[in-house]
Amino acid sequence: MAGGELLRIEDVHKYYDLGAARVHALRGVSLGIATGEFLAVMGASGSGKSTFMNILGCLDRATSGRYLLEGTDVSTLDKRTLARIRNRRIGFVFQGFNLLPRTTAFENAELPTLYSDVDDGERAERAKRALTMVGLAALAEHYPSQMSGGQQQRVAIARALVNRPSILLADEPTGNLDSRTSVEIMDIFQDLNDKGLTIVLVTHEPDVAQFAKRIVLFRDGRIRKDEPVTLRPRASDVLKTLPTLED
Ligand code: ADP
Ligand code: MG
Repeated sequence: MAGGELLRIEDVHKYYDLGAARVHALRGVSLGIATGEFLAVMGASGSGKSTFMNILGCLDRATSGRYLLEGTDVSTLDKRTLARIRNRRIGFVFQGFNLLPRTTAFENAELPTLYSDVDDGERAERAKRALTMVGLAALAEHYPSQMSGGQQQRVAIARALVNRPSILLADEPTGNLDSRTSVEIMDIFQDLNDKGLTIVLVTHEPDVAQFAKRIVLFRDGRIRKDEPVTLRPRASDVLKTLPTLED
């Protein structure tokens, strides 16, 4: 493993109460993730992937079980403390990009810093650096409507990185993208992971999951398989074999 343990989930259960009905979405999930890992979470629709990600991301709490993030037991923290940890330690990327529409790429990337005690100069510096990391420095003043889906997702990744999180959580980040653009996004993820960022990615596409270092398979709220990726391609090599839109 690349580094020390970043987080540990122990026997986590999650119930959703819907009036009289009760959905048991996670049924005893235990898992450790080390710093520097790149994990792909797979499984059929309804198997608990998003529930798991929401708990990892401190967006929701487990009904029972423990969650240790960087040594802190976050399963017992109140909402406000959870929100602070989330803002500082965790970056999120979603399938639908979730950018603010009448807001430039730069302003979108800068957004999470508004909730942290950072001055304007540092804020601008960080947003610029984050956009550069995803190869979008030149489009800083563009609005989402002027960008392709892949470019918008890159802005969302920059936004996720701007507070220098210890973990990046991405729930189906390539779900709305064509196959070449998906590989471009995975190229960015591999590059960030090479630089030390820990990544957890949900995908139902095996072609996308193979770029990770480890694949965890969920079924019916449980982990059914947890295996390293043995023949891991470099997204940058795969891109050379794929036609561009101009071809
Ligand atoms: P996946 O992301 O793998 O498709 P989810 O974690 O979204 O799976 O869902 C797991 C189960 O929990 C499903 O049966 C789903 O219907 C249920 N579920 C998810 N979120 C909620 C919610 N907010 N309220 C009630 N049930 C939910
Ligand atoms: Mg889901």
